[in-house]
Amino acid sequence: MDTSRRGLFGLGALLAFAGTAHAAEIKADDLLFTLPVTTLPIVGSKQRFPVRRIYCIGRNYPAHAKEMGSDPRKEPPFFFEKPTDAVQYVAPGTVGDHPYPSLTHMYQHEIELVAFLKSGGVNIPVEKALDHVFGYTVGLDMTRRDLQHLLENQKKPWEIGKSFDHAAPMGPIHPVSAIGQKTKGSISLAVNGNIKQQADLSDMTWSVAEQIAHLSTAFELKAGDIIYSGTPKGPSTVVKGDLLVGKIEGLPDLSIRIV
Ligand code: MN
Repeated sequence: MDTSRRGLFGLGALLAFAGTAHAAEIKADDLLFTLPVTTLPIVGSKQRFPVRRIYCIGRNYPAHAKEMGSDPRKEPPFFFEKPTDAVQYVAPGTVGDHPYPSLTHMYQHEIELVAFLKSGGVNIPVEKALDHVFGYTVGLDMTRRDLQHLLENQKKPWEIGKSFDHAAPMGPIHPVSAIGQKTKGSISLAVNGNIKQQADLSDMTWSVAEQIAHLSTAFELKAGDIIYSGTPKGPSTVVKGDLLVGKIEGLPDLSIRIV
């Protein structure tokens, strides 16, 4: 790779995401302005992971499904998206300052395993789905719950309840080549030291593999896509000053303070 191409790496990645067949012909000078590409560090590598899309599954841990005798898999999984610039990277061993967002009086945490795709496709079979996963991290799907419920009741999109700035705190990516697939292990979230959410990754109604398979029937998945894989019961309302610590067995903690 010559130096001029390397210098344009960020721009090249941006243009590739634009999906134009002429991307290679567009120079920086052709653009009115340039935009940053959201990227995340990869543990054990100097390379970074460029983020293409952020998919999130809804309601994916059945709280009392067995006791209720109901089948949580009766209805297909459903998904929403967050914008890629909603990512707030928080390094392990640090506490990220997380700004309390506007408009809400019921701000809640959802602790989730996040999967990162290195490749994609359409109609991906479940048994091949995990081949597309590059790695995993701990993430928070931060939610303006009052607005989500209000919009839901009005049959309007969740957008401002889920897809606002800083709504996607997460740690660095741990490659599958180093840590293996994350199909089981404890997941929990504590607020000021009190456990609010606790489950096992194996409790998911739809596994990460099944989520990839389902998503690929609706969208062509591509390298750079990431998936928030759902949260256990117990999201609670937080206020300024609260310390949130998310844990997934085998990964470093994710810590933020609401400011
Ligand atoms: Mn969620």
